[in-house]
Amino acid sequence: MHDRRYNDYATALEQTYGEKVYRIGVDGGFSCPNRNADGSGGCSYCDETGSVAVYHRVSEQNKGFCFDPHSTNPRRLPEDTEESLSKRKEHLLWQIDRAKMFLDRRYDTGGRSIYFQAFTSTYGRIEILKQLYDVALSTGSYREFIVSTRSDCLQLEKINLIASYKGQVDALWVELGLQSGNDTTLHTIARNETVNDFLEACTLAHRSGIHVCAHIILGLPGESFDEIDKTAEVLVKAGVEAVKIHNLHIVAGSRLFEEFKAGLLTAPSMERHLAYTIHVLRRLPFSMIIERFTSDTPKHRLAAPRDFGDKHGFVRCLNLEMERLDVRQGDLL
Ligand code: SF4
Repeated sequence: MHDRRYNDYATALEQTYGEKVYRIGVDGGFSCPNRNADGSGGCSYCDETGSVAVYHRVSEQNKGFCFDPHSTNPRRLPEDTEESLSKRKEHLLWQIDRAKMFLDRRYDTGGRSIYFQAFTSTYGRIEILKQLYDVALSTGSYREFIVSTRSDCLQLEKINLIASYKGQVDALWVELGLQSGNDTTLHTIARNETVNDFLEACTLAHRSGIHVCAHIILGLPGESFDEIDKTAEVLVKAGVEAVKIHNLHIVAGSRLFEEFKAGLLTAPSMERHLAYTIHVLRRLPFSMIIERFTSDTPKHRLAAPRDFGDKHGFVRCLNLEMERLDVRQGDLL
């Protein structure tokens, strides 16, 4: 029997590496194949910032190692010119430098990992990707190299490129947005990829020794416990090593926001997300690392849910509720 009720990320990293490990999240200046050239379209829950982490937006969090992708935005330059590439490399170095200063000030020990976080970080020509990854990994010694992308943008040549960094880090990861294990839902939210795309990408990654962290959203339109069961089944079938759980956020500027304003949908409350989270955890093997439990959208862009509380509060409630129910990750498998 495990002491912990779920396989939390911080503990999993410490058990693997014998030290705490902190991510350096970078925005490589990528765009997204699921958006039109003018930025329109895309998944219905995503606004034009393309899931860029909060800490990459100077205008929203003016501290630490942020940079503003919209000020000297390399995404708006023609991708394949020498000029744009060199700007992207400069941005990468700048971000990593700032992140290191921030982490060194805050935690004097611990390992570091490089995480290409924003938009679709394998979307581009292979020579460009290689140069950007090379630059990032040349800046130090890293535990993990993590690339966030879409399943339909992870062809064999890109897998091979990521796998080529095997000797430089302890582990290679891709983060893939599954969001839901139900094709009907994926169609509704305009993911423009299928569950099968996800399964195939996982198979390719695993064949090359690359771990997979899947992103899922609980509470998507038309989904409840039965659909969450299906999502859990897909995660188990894919054999992913880790999961990031998100509660449905309705973000100003997204297409879901329009539906929300028209009264066509709601976002799950904290209590509802707690029930969904426990439901899915009980259906995932304990070996699967749970990297996060909630979404992270700045309050001023978040239309709903407004009274959810912060992620630490949610984790406290989750621990108490799992204790009260006496349940564990994977206990229904
Ligand atoms: S794939 Fe990612 S960046 Fe692109 S529209 Fe969907 S959520 Fe946004």
